[in-house]
Amino acid sequence: MSRTHTYRCLSCLDEVVTRSFDTSHLSRTCPNCGSFERFANQSVVDRFESLEASPPAELDWERLERREKLVVAERLARTERTLDDFDVTDATDAVAAE
Ligand SMILES: [Zn+2]
Repeated sequence: MSRTHTYRCLSCLDEVVTRSFDTSHLSRTCPNCGSFERFANQSVVDRFESLEASPPAELDWERLERREKLVVAERLARTERTLDDFDVTDATDAVAAE
């Protein structure tokens, strides 16, 4: 497998790096905004954006800080990654149903 994984700077959301390994995030100095930041796995960023688009009813989403939202998104994305396809489909349906 030579798949690459994309990681995005959580400070500016503009800078992207790719790595051959799959982990939840990297910590590095962003060459774009200059801060030492988390670069989140693109799957986490995607989950974050879908949560922003349709906030889950179970959470007080709008009350969370941006950073807390990202932690939730990271947890969901990472959980999804360890579940089998059946559970992934379920989670996707649950989000779509909200
Ligand atoms: Zn940045």
